[in-house]
Amino acid sequence: MTDVDLVLRGRVLTPEGEREASVAVVGGRIAAVGPADAAADAREERRLEPDEVLIPGLVDTHVHVNEPGRTEWEGFATATAAAAAGGVTTILDMPLNSIPPTTTVPALRVKQQAAQGRVAVDVGFWGGAVPGNLGTGELRALHEAGVFGFKCFLAPSGVDEFPHLGRAQLDAALDELAAFDGLLIVHAEDPDVLHAHENPGGPRYADYVASRPDEAEAAAVEHVIAGLRRTGGRAHILHVSSAAVLPLLRAAKADGLRITAETCPHYLTIDAGQIGDGETRFKCAPPIRDAATQDALWAALADGTLDAVVTDHSPATVELKTAGGGDFARAWGGISGLQLGLSAVWTAARARGVPLAEVLRWMSSGTAALAGLPDRGRIAPGARADLAVFAPDERFTVDAHALAHRNPVTAYEGRELRGRVRATLLAGEPVDPAAPAGRLLSRPDAPGD
Ligand SMILES: [Zn+2]
Repeated sequence: MTDVDLVLRGRVLTPEGEREASVAVVGGRIAAVGPADAAADAREERRLEPDEVLIPGLVDTHVHVNEPGRTEWEGFATATAAAAAGGVTTILDMPLNSIPPTTTVPALRVKQQAAQGRVAVDVGFWGGAVPGNLGTGELRALHEAGVFGFKCFLAPSGVDEFPHLGRAQLDAALDELAAFDGLLIVHAEDPDVLHAHENPGGPRYADYVASRPDEAEAAAVEHVIAGLRRTGGRAHILHVSSAAVLPLLRAAKADGLRITAETCPHYLTIDAGQIGDGETRFKCAPPIRDAATQDALWAALADGTLDAVVTDHSPATVELKTAGGGDFARAWGGISGLQLGLSAVWTAARARGVPLAEVLRWMSSGTAALAGLPDRGRIAPGARADLAVFAPDERFTVDAHALAHRNPVTAYEGRELRGRVRATLLAGEPVDPAAPAGRLLSRPDAPGD
């Protein structure tokens, strides 16, 4: 093989399993996966340490970068530095909580301009479906401009500039997207159920969970499924935290509806029963639930009811996360996990006897499929050489101040995790956040891409 840029040798996680192999990189793509001792005249060679394994870079399709507009919460430079440190080589940015939200093509351009030249990993964008852009042609225009799909809320989002869709509007959005086979991604909590369980406030986490009960998620998912039955459209359920949703998803999938769903590391690894009074760094919506729910979510990943694990990295300032001095009604919700998602899930997976290949199936190839990026998320000839060097046995204790994202607050603070990312490669090159080389992505089948 001529003009090989890089050969990596060592333990490699391929789609067929983990084995000793060599991976040859040419022009930013994987040219060959061969025997560990395969001869190659490469410009550069790297031999992995015995405790390391080469894994496909993660694709995290649920990240709130918040730039422009709420850059004090996060930003493209810090978010992508955190991504790279966590082995994530592709992120898709959510249409909120930036200002403007990504609900029009001009707003998408503003965001792309803010990101240009600042991203250490590849970044694509979700659009948003809100009452104001339904029926205006704006969804199709955003689709043609290359967004990966459209996020909507069925209950208040928390920010005024991104209003939620009512039930008739959800149906209208599904109708509109079905015309061009667009994907609707849904924050599924039902506003009527939430309204009936008003948060009393105060420091008890159990009161917060009771204010966002399982039936809020189940009712909202039922509406989405009914819409899919009617329109034949495509929907993805974001951040499933409730076991009550799982039988609904199972039945919808068995009926052949085009529905997928994700959960998040915090729902898989943190037990609500362990959250102390006033610990508002754990506040997120939907909420982290009990240990039995956790077991059900793991089982649903194993049997394919859930398709993916994404971080829902949703940072805010320390002031907002601790607003109200421990009052769960007043603190801002959202968990920052972009840099820790792999380690957190792997730590719990190994304790459950779940192999690393499964974890990567949910966090890398599964999310790449969800995003429609078939050349990412696997170590195989032809795929992009987006890779991470992972030491699955290394232990570390999370120190929020040592993380690369902007605000030093995370639900994983003080946890001992197993599995550390030692290097991340984007298109075969080591990621250096000081010299950001990530690209801005459009949906591959978008016109003009
Ligand atoms: Zn989110």
